[in-house]
Amino acid sequence: MVNNKVEDVKLYINGEFVEAAGGDTFENRNPFTNEAINLVAKGNQDDIDLAVNAAEEAFRNGPWGSMKLTQRMKYIDKIADLIEEEAEEIALLESLDSGLPISQTRKMAARGAENFRFYSRMVQARMHGDAYQVDDEFINYTVYKPLGVVGLITPWNAPFMLLTWKVAPALATGNTVVLKPAELSPLSANILAKIIQKAELPNGVFNVVHGFGETAGEALVQHPTVKAISFTGETTTGKRIMKNGADSLKKTSMELGGKSPLIVFDDADIEQALDAAVWGIFSFNGERCTANSRVFVQKDVKHKFVEALKERVQNIIVGDPSEDKTELGPLIDKGHFQKVTSYIELAKQEGCEVYQGEVPEQLTNGNYVPPTLLLHAKNDMRVCQEEIFGPVMAVIEFESEEEVIKMANDVAYGLAGYVWTNDIKRGHRVAQAIDSGMIWVNSQNVRDLRIPFGGMKASGIGREGGHFAIFEFYTEPKAIHVAIGDHHIPKFGKNK
Ligand code: NAD
Repeated sequence: MVNNKVEDVKLYINGEFVEAAGGDTFENRNPFTNEAINLVAKGNQDDIDLAVNAAEEAFRNGPWGSMKLTQRMKYIDKIADLIEEEAEEIALLESLDSGLPISQTRKMAARGAENFRFYSRMVQARMHGDAYQVDDEFINYTVYKPLGVVGLITPWNAPFMLLTWKVAPALATGNTVVLKPAELSPLSANILAKIIQKAELPNGVFNVVHGFGETAGEALVQHPTVKAISFTGETTTGKRIMKNGADSLKKTSMELGGKSPLIVFDDADIEQALDAAVWGIFSFNGERCTANSRVFVQKDVKHKFVEALKERVQNIIVGDPSEDKTELGPLIDKGHFQKVTSYIELAKQEGCEVYQGEVPEQLTNGNYVPPTLLLHAKNDMRVCQEEIFGPVMAVIEFESEEEVIKMANDVAYGLAGYVWTNDIKRGHRVAQAIDSGMIWVNSQNVRDLRIPFGGMKASGIGREGGHFAIFEFYTEPKAIHVAIGDHHIPKFGKNK
């Protein structure tokens, strides 16, 4: 990278960086300046065909499909080593591409390496079947087999970390991959492609096709050779992918949107709940699927909590994402900026008091939305029901546990939830009563990689992480039934 100019992004197909078959490109912009960073090869149906064919060939006839597990894991470990070596470059480019503060992209790069290390360990330790002795007549056993070519479609909000969540288990379990990264944040996918080329994975095992969802994405989803699609993105896109994948009976994993509640009871450790609530909505520039965009505060502590929130919002460091001290950067693009600001206008029309921090004057070229509180919000307002995906927290008052559970669940989504209370029984009770895939009690959003990640309701189908990705998604269990003694077989056609 020289003076924020980055080399153009090509497709990575069958071990080579190539232009799109049709020669088309699109511009990639920096959210901090809205200036072009570089050009990106615009993949289409033809490029998807080439990538899928290369991946299928690598799976069926290349060394990957028959490689010994220990050898395959050497490649996975090597990828992790190289990510660690390149971590600072990944963090810089990711920040430039997405507007995420560098202090946060550094952590994401480190987590990306850990995803590969984790799946290397997990597959070696856990990817095994079971054996069932059936008296002295049979032994039945299961083995887990990779699917073949899998399609991975990823969003722009934490591009590198989210794509490693999918690429690491897909490759570690022995599949071959075609990745379609988000068009708004293409850079880090190509760093991974370079790393994979450097690690000398066999050609065709990993491919990247850049391009738009409606063209490259749909071609991947509809391709008959692709066995499964793992998707992270908006709920509406997920629905469309499921419809488009139906004709070829695609297996799908859906990690979708959220509108997660954070509940502060009056007996909570208020200072910690405040830290968690502020971090949970304003980190990742508010573009976070598990963001606590609805904060429910019990009546007796509401005034104190809201006053403290206002102070924090005024003090959040809004700045250049490449500076270490920046806490909040610009949104990904102008279109998303307009969506978020239009929700803030809607909040006023719906009767909220909008309280905002400041964006320093010199930052006017970027897509900055100040840290925003929607005060006096009601759960049935559109701003409390729809995913805004920006640095916007709605604050809703409640009186009783029963009431807050009802409101927390009265939403289409069910991704995450957070409960703050020092009453241990209540903590567990509320955690179990909230309809969401993940709940944190007296904790911010920290996650051990062994634990399943994912949502229910409109937030998704299936789980990523831990052994769930291995057993529920990236492999097929195959049952093998073997007779070890004599057993009765009906003799049709012998008794006339
Ligand atoms: P998006 O749905 O617009 O795009 C995601 C990806 O899908 C992109 O690569 C895009 O090109 C592709 N795509 C779009 N239309 C497609 C189509 N018809 N067929 C195939 N592919 C298509 O999402 P986004 O705006 O990039 O990301 C933000 C969304 O992602 C938010 O809703 C957020 O909550 C969600 N998200 C969810 C999780 C989770 O784990 N649940 C994590 C991060 C983000």
